[in-house]
Amino acid sequence: MIVMKFGGTSVQNAAAINRVADIVKSKLDLRPTVIVSAMARVTDALLGIARVANERRFDEAAKLIGSLADRHLQVARELLGPGKELESVESAIGSHFAELVGLARSIATLGELTPRSLDAISSFGERLSSIMVAAAFRSRGIPASLVDSREFLVTDGNFTAARPDMRETESRARQRLVPIIAEGGVPVAQGFIGSTPEGITTTIGRGGSDYSAAIIGATLGADSIEIWTDVDGLMTADPRIVAGARRIRIVSFDEAAELSYFGAKVLHPSTVLPAIERRIPVHIFNTNNPSCEGTLIAAEPKRSLNTIKSIAVKRGVTIVNVASTQMIMAHGFLRAIFEVFDRHQTSIDVVTTSETSVSMTLDNTDRLEVILEELNRIGEVHVDPAKAIVCVVGDNLKFTPGVAARLFRALGDINVNMISQGASVINLTFVINDGETERAIGLLHADFFRECDPAVFA
Ligand code: ADP
Ligand code: ASP
Ligand code: MG
Repeated sequence: MIVMKFGGTSVQNAAAINRVADIVKSKLDLRPTVIVSAMARVTDALLGIARVANERRFDEAAKLIGSLADRHLQVARELLGPGKELESVESAIGSHFAELVGLARSIATLGELTPRSLDAISSFGERLSSIMVAAAFRSRGIPASLVDSREFLVTDGNFTAARPDMRETESRARQRLVPIIAEGGVPVAQGFIGSTPEGITTTIGRGGSDYSAAIIGATLGADSIEIWTDVDGLMTADPRIVAGARRIRIVSFDEAAELSYFGAKVLHPSTVLPAIERRIPVHIFNTNNPSCEGTLIAAEPKRSLNTIKSIAVKRGVTIVNVASTQMIMAHGFLRAIFEVFDRHQTSIDVVTTSETSVSMTLDNTDRLEVILEELNRIGEVHVDPAKAIVCVVGDNLKFTPGVAARLFRALGDINVNMISQGASVINLTFVINDGETERAIGLLHADFFRECDPAVFA
């Protein structure tokens, strides 16, 4: 069997959901389980509603909820002609929105928004889209069964970034999904959401539907996991930044993990982990161009003639530099610094050190103020916002000398603030001003992909 995940743009309106139905129909013999995201921009809208409610502006929140309800009802009516299926979908959508209004009201009354209630609110996107997708499938002859992921995807209680309990999830997912598949049915379930063992709704982090698909694929022992999105596959750079980006036919699990961690949004970074453990191939496909071969992420990739496979970028990061004049990297200096970040649960992406200072990049600055206060006791602190981490990735970096020199040459006059080569040696990472991102990636792309190995790049 296979797991097919459809992202937000793939289910953003009736026309898109119709394309999804066609694609799933063409793969029924592979026994698919379908995982869906919320319709495009709905999760953002829900988080906005939570924020407005938290500011005790209930009327405004109710208005936003009303327009979200209209959007869903309109898509449902476009998808399903008048009849029983539409009536039951309309009533399900109606009761979900009534529940959402109730939640917004209690948040507004209390003026308090906990991570737990944030998850309760952001879960509605996937819950709603899956109702419509399952109904659309049935009305087009696909034997779909709507399953609530919260019944089987068990997580810890770390709301907004919950981690799955793979053992419990495996036993529950098998119990819940295998009988449906065995009878020739197509389970349709939500990405992104799960629940604690006690049944409290959780979410597994933004963009997490890819991860859900991988968790479910791994627990069911799927033959492959398909991530259906709005681009032809994993590309040599974000096609929104580089118009001439090329599709990568095949990459390794390691390369894909590095790329997604450093900003290739097309795949959630955690997705590859469950897939690696069970050696399940992951494919990326384009819902708008289903005949395209996409990208295969596999354990044994092809060697390429090109030095790198892709360039990723993580924007809006902040550099924090800590200098110590007296201590000159005395024993315990690094540990003291890292402990501060650890205490405030803030992860660091890139670290460079010199004789007297340490530079680190963060993308989450929620706790920056307290962090700086504590770091000030350790050394002299300097903060540099509006930076971007650029990461070039490829297995061949292991075997190719002089990549850093080539990279600096290609960048010309663009100033590089930090540079680090990962111990995994399949990535080379550096930090620049965010404002120069487009130019930097354009220059690198032109240099490293002037000629492309046709065995690896389309
Ligand atoms: P979905 O809603 O299907 O999960 P996302 O918006 O999360 O889709 O991810 C797809 C987007 O990822 C693309 O539209 C593209 O702009 C962006 N992207 C960033 N880097 C890359 C890359 N290297 N290759 C392909 N897409 C990329
Ligand atoms: N809907 C969620 C988000 O927007 C999860 C996902 O789409 O992958 O983050
Ligand atoms: Mg995504």
